[in-house]
Amino acid sequence: MTSVPRVVVLAGGVGGAKFTLGVREALARAGAPQATVIVNTGDDLWLSGVRLQPDVDSVLYALAGVNDTQRGWGRAGDTERVNEELQAWGAGWPWFTLGDLDLGTHLARTGWLRDGLTVTHVVERLSRRWHLGIRMLPMTDTEVDTHVVMADGSRLHFQEWWTRHRAGLAPVAFESPGIEAAVPAPGVGEAIANADIVLIAPSNPVVSIGPILAVPGIREALSTTPAQVVGVSPVIGGRVVRGMADVCLTAIGVDTSAGAVAAHYGARADGGVLDAWLVAEEDAAAAASVDALGIRAVVAPLWMTDVDASAAIAETALAL
Ligand code: GDP
Ligand code: CA
Repeated sequence: MTSVPRVVVLAGGVGGAKFTLGVREALARAGAPQATVIVNTGDDLWLSGVRLQPDVDSVLYALAGVNDTQRGWGRAGDTERVNEELQAWGAGWPWFTLGDLDLGTHLARTGWLRDGLTVTHVVERLSRRWHLGIRMLPMTDTEVDTHVVMADGSRLHFQEWWTRHRAGLAPVAFESPGIEAAVPAPGVGEAIANADIVLIAPSNPVVSIGPILAVPGIREALSTTPAQVVGVSPVIGGRVVRGMADVCLTAIGVDTSAGAVAAHYGARADGGVLDAWLVAEEDAAAAASVDALGIRAVVAPLWMTDVDASAAIAETALAL
């Protein structure tokens, strides 16, 4: 690593946010410049007239230190008065709670979008309120969606499948309508091209990292960057740590194992995106199969129990 590495992180929501906190801490300790985090916008949606960006907000709130760490999403100490009113009107989704403070964010964002600001500008404005110590970029300014396709051909919006059905219905595919026409947000291509290291957070490979890689141009930028591309396994001991990412992996025919997820991302030398893959100590036995793919496997503790643990993971990756 050069003395002042330029670092880019690709991140989804909660797992991405925990990892991004660790990257910020590791870079601060090294006296390095702030990183750029490129955040998934594939599960953004309109609800009750406002634009929600679940992953942007998870990363934003975590970096600002105002996130609800108990619940895992939304603002700490939030209330639900407005949500109760929405329910009384029969507006929105009864199974999808919008906190009052959170709604403040959504209203601000929606107002700025209505004023004609791009998503990039909106994210930049949201970032100004707190000292985040990291530059946040959305993956794209284009509106894209994530749909879940069932065996009978019916489809649900990702958030309905995830939140209402708790990923309980077995899907056969995930689709991202609009993604073919999407272009990387301004600055995304440059950040990747000029990075010394690109870190793929231990986020959901299918619905968090998947949409980022599916934006035309981003995969190409990763294949041509002189940076090392290092991924962190979201699978520990053959299981996803929290959430239902295993159902997503199964649906696309990928085993819930550190080796299978590495193979899914693929070696850069082989048309994939990875140079190296951090594997949990519990999955050390998978290291040889990862190496055999042409991806350098590095075994390390991967539990992001607190900022120090996340920073240690980031330091291991940065040392490559
Ligand atoms: P979402 O968009 O809010 O669902 O969050 P992400 O996609 O960013 O992250 C979800 C993923 O984070 C899950 O697949 C988890 O396996 C992974 N994850 C959560 N906590 C940890 C952890 O402590 N260590 C590792 N390695 N992965 C984690
Ligand atoms: Ca998400």
